[in-house]
Amino acid sequence: MPQQVLKGGGYDVIVIGGGIMGIALATVESERGRRVLLLEREERPVGASVQNFGLLWCLGQPAHLWKRALRTRARWLALAGKAGFQAAANGSIHLAHGDLDAGVLKEFVETAPEGFEGHWLEAGEIPARCTAVRRDGLVGGLWSPHETTVDGREALPRLLEWLQRERGVDVRFDAAVSRVEAPEVVSAAGIFRADRIHVCTGTELRILFPEVYRASGITKTKLQMWRTHRQPGGWRLGPSLCAGLTYLHYAAFAGCPSLPALRARYEQTHAEHLAHGIHVLLAQNALGEAIVGDTHHYSLTHDPFLHDDLDRLIADYLGTFASVPDPRVAQRWVGMYAKIPGKTDLIAHPQPGVTIVNALGGAGMTLSFGLAEELVPE
Ligand SMILES: Cc1cc2nc3c(=O)[nH]c(=O)nc-3n(C[C@H](O)[C@H](O)[C@H](O)COP(=O)(O)OP(=O)(O)OC[C@H]3O[C@@H](n4cnc5c(N)ncnc54)[C@H](O)[C@@H]3O)c2cc1C
Repeated sequence: MPQQVLKGGGYDVIVIGGGIMGIALATVESERGRRVLLLEREERPVGASVQNFGLLWCLGQPAHLWKRALRTRARWLALAGKAGFQAAANGSIHLAHGDLDAGVLKEFVETAPEGFEGHWLEAGEIPARCTAVRRDGLVGGLWSPHETTVDGREALPRLLEWLQRERGVDVRFDAAVSRVEAPEVVSAAGIFRADRIHVCTGTELRILFPEVYRASGITKTKLQMWRTHRQPGGWRLGPSLCAGLTYLHYAAFAGCPSLPALRARYEQTHAEHLAHGIHVLLAQNALGEAIVGDTHHYSLTHDPFLHDDLDRLIADYLGTFASVPDPRVAQRWVGMYAKIPGKTDLIAHPQPGVTIVNALGGAGMTLSFGLAEELVPE
């Protein structure tokens, strides 16, 4: 392919990667008046930002990221109207089946970050908010209005179109970047130059700056999940749902005094689930499809297969707390995201003017725009 060299002042900023992190940085850079080029290797977004639940899961984040999550959510809600995609601020209910679940949730509320607007619901109050919840053994739940659902399949293409149309961002697909020698970027679409380069390549860790990734301890998380057909009769789930296993997964609950006892109980009753990193969320997108997942396995190289037995473990646990009218599965898939165990992101500067922004783990949709605001200079 002939390579085009755009010398000098074509662009102020080059963003490599058209997932949500690249989009968030392009959004904030262009808002601050810079000319932005975004290079995406695929013909359309298909990375983690499309493979996910689409949940802005504010409540699960560690306290120091709470404001970042709220700022990200506010951006999503504003962009939905501008770019033309759906964002449903349905909230969530964290369900409690027994005193240990309830203890963790109530302890969370006592120390919840400023601005948290949720509150405890007694078991009898829950069916009015969500008919999917099973009542056996239910003692109550934590209602939170902050959690919001988007659909990456819809939102990502719309955001990229909006960036081109309204912000003049030059978005190039089929433009895999093979080398960065700041200020120069070598791609399948040509060689470009800019003083600032953001590298947001998600799970692609071997081509650009592999030594930075190796030193960081980054790994890849493989997840299994599915969605059903559109639920019949316009049925709506309302709030997204989860139960005890989820409280072991999210950092928000790490400081709750009852958590070790909850973990000990699950180690006895759900050892297999824990061994496969399973915690279960149930959400619904704007199309009416119910979304269910997921597993978590960590490795730099994963087998590419879906494991039926793991889907069964997810379904079994889901069945203990919720059901949807039509559980038939329409699509199952494997998703993959980059993560550094114990850390919430990777920000690195391998060359002058170059910033790697990666490893947002299972929270990239929840934290991307807020992180971009913090990273991009005024
Ligand atoms: C199954 C699953 C469920 C999840 N659920 C949620 C959730 O509910 N809520 C939440 O907040 N987060 C969730 N996440 C996490 C979230 O999806 C990720 O944190 C986020 O999408 C990462 O965004 P990214 O832009 O870093 O990566 P990606 O979306 O993977 O984007 C990276 C992009 O870079 C491109 N690229 C790579 N190499 C090159 C190159 N050399 N040149 C040009 N382009 C390149 C890729 O093609 C890709 O489009 C989930 C993830 C998965 C997999």
